[in-house]
Amino acid sequence: MNKNEYTSGASSAASDIALNIITRQEHSISRKKISDNALKVLYRLHGAGFDAFLVGGGVRDLLLGQNPKDFDIATNATPEQIRQLFKNCRLIGRRFRLAHIMFGRDIIEVATFRGHHQEPSKNVSQQSKDGMLLRDNVYGSIDEDAERRDFTVNAMYYNIGDYSIHDYASGVEDLEDKLVRLIGDPETRYREDPVRMLRAIRFAVKLDFDIEEDTAEPIERLALLLQDIPAARLYEESLKMLQSGYGLETYHLMREYGLFQQLFPTIAEYFTDDYSSMTEQMLDLVLDSTDQRLEDGKRINPAFMFAAMLWYPLQEKAKHISEQRQISMYDAIMEASNHVLDEQVRSIAIPRRHTATIREIWQLQIRLSRRHGKRAFRLMELNKFRAGFDFLEMRGEIEQGETLELAKWWETFQNSGRNVRQAMVSDLDSSNEGHNNRRKRNYRKKKNKAS
Ligand code: ATP
Ligand code: MG
Repeated sequence: MNKNEYTSGASSAASDIALNIITRQEHSISRKKISDNALKVLYRLHGAGFDAFLVGGGVRDLLLGQNPKDFDIATNATPEQIRQLFKNCRLIGRRFRLAHIMFGRDIIEVATFRGHHQEPSKNVSQQSKDGMLLRDNVYGSIDEDAERRDFTVNAMYYNIGDYSIHDYASGVEDLEDKLVRLIGDPETRYREDPVRMLRAIRFAVKLDFDIEEDTAEPIERLALLLQDIPAARLYEESLKMLQSGYGLETYHLMREYGLFQQLFPTIAEYFTDDYSSMTEQMLDLVLDSTDQRLEDGKRINPAFMFAAMLWYPLQEKAKHISEQRQISMYDAIMEASNHVLDEQVRSIAIPRRHTATIREIWQLQIRLSRRHGKRAFRLMELNKFRAGFDFLEMRGEIEQGETLELAKWWETFQNSGRNVRQAMVSDLDSSNEGHNNRRKRNYRKKKNKAS
């Protein structure tokens, strides 16, 4: 490795910032592995006389021999200069101006090097009194940019000028040692942006790395800081944590560090020492199945996942309401749905279109047990029937007994022809469900006669 090291004396993280250049012959990144669109952008910037680097997850994943999810680019060109180079460019972002270069559905994100946030003279960066960054749109040099990144393995830059890698924080070494390590003083960095705690967990699981000791130490202590993060951002993060293929493991690690409890306080009320509550069983089941679906290339729906995660807490609240106020379980569930969702969206802003689906899936749990007459046929026509049924099956696995019977009944019903279905419904008439309904009808008839 070419030891071309220097240290930037700029700020608190400076001691961690020492450039190490790895030449083209000394690393394994091949341009063939970089998307054509990202290459186009890199070459166009470079051709116009700017510095252009692939950075972040793209470099990290390529060095690990994995396929990057996206390719991010960093440059010394300003957003305005980038816009002049690309017709298909959109400038976005309030917190920090970024350029999006659009290639149909593929978007390449180009960011101008960011500078130090502590520079009071420029007055465009602000910190809250507990050290959290509020705004930070100061442009800077590449080594300042590196210093502001979160983990050492995320601060490696692939230079399109000479195909070398600029490693600013010994990321290559940590990559070899499989370590997630924050750049700079961990507590300071978490206070600046508490979401970094979630990112540490996410990368540890996704890359199968350990979290370096000093990086891990403050997390449990500082987990509470997540309460200061806007719920919309936490919603996005929670999807990345739970719906990127490693949801089950990520939940368990988040929970060990007390982070999951901050994102899902209502669910955490039902946590037990031996992970045995129905809520915990359901978390394992739904997150495992989400991971499985992603692996199989199937579609996943956040509403389904949240509906399942919150179901048993909902049941408990509904039972409580129903007993206290002597109202039917159906009405109690409707009311408890409001409570549970209101509480959940305070920490994680689940969008309205999803909360509507969550309610539908919950309501279906009650409606699926009412199958007599034409009801079963009508239920199957509903938009959310499939989601409702899939969830009933999961409940069956946990609850066994009647719920499992019901799930099996529906499975047979769906797989049968018209005649068998009709027979299945008729059979119900001779069982309790039909019996009760006949009784109700007879009672109504009598009542009508009497009046
Ligand atoms: P993924 O595979 O999930 O896309 P990534 O490392 O590319 O991983 P992004 O969220 O796409 O992660 O962010 C791109 C880069 O921006 C990161 O590699 C990191 O250098 C920097 N970054 C992102 N979020 C933060 C943050 N909260 N604090 C500091 N740096 C960050
Ligand atoms: Mg990325």
